[in-house]
Amino acid sequence: MIKYDRSNIKNIIDETNEKVVLLGAGNISGLTFKILTDLGVVVDYLCENDERRRNISNIREVKDYEGFKNLKVISYEELKNLGIKVNIFLSNQYIKYLLPKLEEDKFQNIFFSTELLKHMNLDEIYKGGLHPLKIKRIVDYYCEMTKKMDYLKSNHLSLKTLDVQITERCSLKCKDCSNLMQYYTKPQNAEMEDLFLSLDKIMSVIDSIDEFRVLGGDPFMNKEMYKVINKLDAYNSGARIAIYTNGQIIPKGENLECLRKKNVILEISNYGNISRNHDKIVKLCEDEKIAYSTFKLEKWDDCGRIMPFSNKSEKELKHLFSNCCNSDLISLLDGNLYRCPFSANGTHLGAIPKNPDDTVNLLNKDLSKEELKKEIFNLYFNKDYLTACSYCNGRDYSSKHVPVAAQTREVMNFVKVNKIN
Ligand code: SF4
Ligand code: SF4
Repeated sequence: MIKYDRSNIKNIIDETNEKVVLLGAGNISGLTFKILTDLGVVVDYLCENDERRRNISNIREVKDYEGFKNLKVISYEELKNLGIKVNIFLSNQYIKYLLPKLEEDKFQNIFFSTELLKHMNLDEIYKGGLHPLKIKRIVDYYCEMTKKMDYLKSNHLSLKTLDVQITERCSLKCKDCSNLMQYYTKPQNAEMEDLFLSLDKIMSVIDSIDEFRVLGGDPFMNKEMYKVINKLDAYNSGARIAIYTNGQIIPKGENLECLRKKNVILEISNYGNISRNHDKIVKLCEDEKIAYSTFKLEKWDDCGRIMPFSNKSEKELKHLFSNCCNSDLISLLDGNLYRCPFSANGTHLGAIPKNPDDTVNLLNKDLSKEELKKEIFNLYFNKDYLTACSYCNGRDYSSKHVPVAAQTREVMNFVKVNKIN
């Protein structure tokens, strides 16, 4: 990994006299492109190995930087043809999978985008639509990912995010909800005592955490949401607390009060007319000086369906998992930790066989602290795929799209399973 800073990156690149390639084509690549271009560095290519994603118009997150959309997208084989001295910016979140591959192929000039992204002026740099606080979180997430390899080597248990699901109840019933709320016949709020005990257990063994994501369903359906926020805040971990809502329920009382905390940010998904109180909630946040970000979604990925068991090969499962943008969303549900929300809710519903290797039972009194830490570490760092991946469409840039927040009246059906395949 080449060390650099903003002041010397142009010289370093110029001295190599080699092409510059951005690996990945999402927000981090867009930002990297913009900053490099501003610093006078010419970017030559984007590299994307998945053929389905190579058509730039299929890449969802690309923003409208002058020149970015016109960059030629090359395959990994074409990247190899550029020689081992080509300058590669590893500007996407799949670092754990890509860095070993680049090293194995003996590439010499590999850069993280981290130094470029530090201290950027968010308001100025990203006029393409995303809210500055949202961009900051995307950047923080990427920067945490760049450290994951070091954490792995040093046995450091640092979570980027923890999904804390506080209810299965929602003010909407989206047919394609990726958290699978549409499958719950009798949705419940989380049981507070178990939730708090689980959180205490996690916090007693992890070394650090960047962000708690409080979600449901709609967290505001749980009138005791504020208790969870106060609990998370009381850990003084420095982690951000992001609360996800769909723009339906205007917070009030103690659920409003807790939003004023320094580390809390309200993340409002804007589904157009369906998010009927979106504008009122935004105004409330503005008036009350509550940190928020809002994002209008134009399309959803088709990843909210429990599929019949598919007999995918190990290679296919590994591919699905390593390309899935949800595979690092460690999720807490009903006293258990899972690797992603699909695995959590699918297992909790009984639609996916419970695989003890894919779960950490936080309420197991027999586990010592060391054993618990080891289990969480393995779940977070040592998985190649999950049992749940055999029941899931996966979620990557090649996912098909479905309409945003299409509603259903009926609870969706699934086949109950009770054994490990
Ligand atoms: S608003 Fe829709 S997508 Fe969001 S949690 Fe509720 S059902 Fe799921
Ligand atoms: S089950 Fe596998 S493919 Fe589906 S969201 Fe989770 S990690 Fe991704």
